[in-house]
Amino acid sequence: MKKERFTCKKCGKTIGGHNQYLHDGMCDECFFDTYFPEDAQIYEKDAGKLLHICRKSEKKNMRFKNFLKSGDLDQKRFDIIVKEITEKIDCTACGNCCKILKTGVSTDDINRIAKHLHMPVDDFIKKYVTKNSEDLVEFKHVPCSFLQEDNTCQIYEVRPQECRDYPYLDKDVTTRCIQFFGNAEICPIVFNVLENAKKEFLEDIYVNL
Ligand code: SF4
Ligand code: SF4
Repeated sequence: MKKERFTCKKCGKTIGGHNQYLHDGMCDECFFDTYFPEDAQIYEKDAGKLLHICRKSEKKNMRFKNFLKSGDLDQKRFDIIVKEITEKIDCTACGNCCKILKTGVSTDDINRIAKHLHMPVDDFIKKYVTKNSEDLVEFKHVPCSFLQEDNTCQIYEVRPQECRDYPYLDKDVTTRCIQFFGNAEICPIVFNVLENAKKEFLEDIYVNL
């Protein structure tokens, strides 16, 4: 028997029977753009309030954590939320990660930053770097010595890789649940991504209960 072939009525991409009959003949992206067009919302920008709100939402967050672990997250829809929230939050109005986290540094980071500051590497290490109880190399001071009064970074162009990667939302959150939920208590970007994702994936969360 010849298999039916469907295409999205909006963009022409090939789609399956589920989308043809239940998503109004559109691919997921066009369907959600059409029927749920609103941008991701900002629920809270004040980093100082996040821990308290997360503690109050522990049950709902646990449900979402279980959903993430199920492996059913639609990564494309999640990435759209990340993009929209990242565009709406100004890190220079926050700086919380630089104020409360100790940044891990590699040898490459140290060499690059010392060169940028025109400092001998040994002097730089003595002044700014330490080893923690697990033998990991990190910056000595919290808040970070390079955080300026206006929340900008004095060494932004040469900052450590860990600072570039934070808050790790381009990584797979389904395998980094502990880190993701921990960062939601610290970082307004992660917190608002979490709150929007809980709303966006509400139906899927309950299917997985
Ligand atoms: S990454 Fe998060 S915690 Fe760090 S400055 Fe930006 S919003 Fe604040
Ligand atoms: S190096 Fe810059 S970006 Fe990294 S923690 Fe320090 S101030 Fe923040």
